[in-house]
Amino acid sequence: MSSSATTGGGGPRVDTVRVSTYVVPTDAPESDGTLEWERTTLVVVELAAGGVTGLGYTYADRATAAVVRDALAGEVKGEDAFAIPAANRRMLARVRNLGRPGIASMAISAVDNALWDLKSRLLNLPLALLLGSARPETPVYGSGGFTSYSTEELQRQLGGWAEQGMAFVKMKVGREPAEDPRRVRAAREAIGGTQLFVDANGAYSRKQALALARRFADLDVRWFEEPVSSDDLAGLRFLRDQAPAEMDVAAGEYGYDPFYFRRMLEAGAVDVLQADATRCGGVSGFVAAHALADAQGLPLSAHCAPALHLHLGCALVRVRHLEYFHDHQRIEEMLFDGTVRPRHGALAPDLTRPGLGLTLKRQDAQRFAVDDWRG
Ligand SMILES: [Mg+2]
Repeated sequence: MSSSATTGGGGPRVDTVRVSTYVVPTDAPESDGTLEWERTTLVVVELAAGGVTGLGYTYADRATAAVVRDALAGEVKGEDAFAIPAANRRMLARVRNLGRPGIASMAISAVDNALWDLKSRLLNLPLALLLGSARPETPVYGSGGFTSYSTEELQRQLGGWAEQGMAFVKMKVGREPAEDPRRVRAAREAIGGTQLFVDANGAYSRKQALALARRFADLDVRWFEEPVSSDDLAGLRFLRDQAPAEMDVAAGEYGYDPFYFRRMLEAGAVDVLQADATRCGGVSGFVAAHALADAQGLPLSAHCAPALHLHLGCALVRVRHLEYFHDHQRIEEMLFDGTVRPRHGALAPDLTRPGLGLTLKRQDAQRFAVDDWRG
């Protein structure tokens, strides 16, 4: 660590903020019950202090990078790299009039993730160990099964994950409800005894979701994610109460602050809470969501961004599994050095690498770059 002046947290000052944005085409058109897309945007924040650079990221709109540049960079530059709660307090104050949920919270998440990576690198510890160590590896579920896939593509992808030893795989439903039982049956045939999850992304009405929950249960589906809109807490609760007991109702991926998770939990809306550290306030926000789930005695599942959540999964006891999302796993392998592949259905961080263990392959990433700012 350098001998830079400290500002209360005991760390060196952040001297550079860089934010770069990459728009990466998907390998095929992707869709779920309520959205279609052909590209994914990655916003990377790099913070330097004491001669070390930390990296954080979010999957968000390009506008997120502008919020980092125009609103947040000034709240971390020149400040103590170790004082992460203080940085978050300043960033939250700064976005008050912008509106915290959504883009502002994704921008804060990317900065918070970079601060945690930076701190662990300065201390020469993997993030999983800096946060505390609950387990050496975290179970993952293969996630894809887009509604844009043909039956053959669906079977090939989910069957491939099952063959690799994943204990759970997830597919999208909800685009053509009348077709869903057939698609789910085709997936079941491809994966044998592997647990099957479905995600409707809020596409169904309450009674439609209940009718389908019963049909999916006949195909031994164990997880029904966002059967109705995740904003319909009473609807989620209805499904949770009425669906077969073996089927978990899950939601939470659009949680941008602790109040959101508290409302969802207090409504009794989910069997498993989901949270996404690229949206909910970064590593700090994910730890807060975990505490809320813990206080309800419920498990937490990490949404998307597997290379980021891997460390959180190993650090926090209530994490049940991580989502090994096809789209993000592909981008993370393309753009970062240091990603790991699942073995026997679990991801284990490389504990010889500090922080998140990731470095941006700037050269490889360049062809996807749309913005790059340094201040
Ligand atoms: Mg989902």
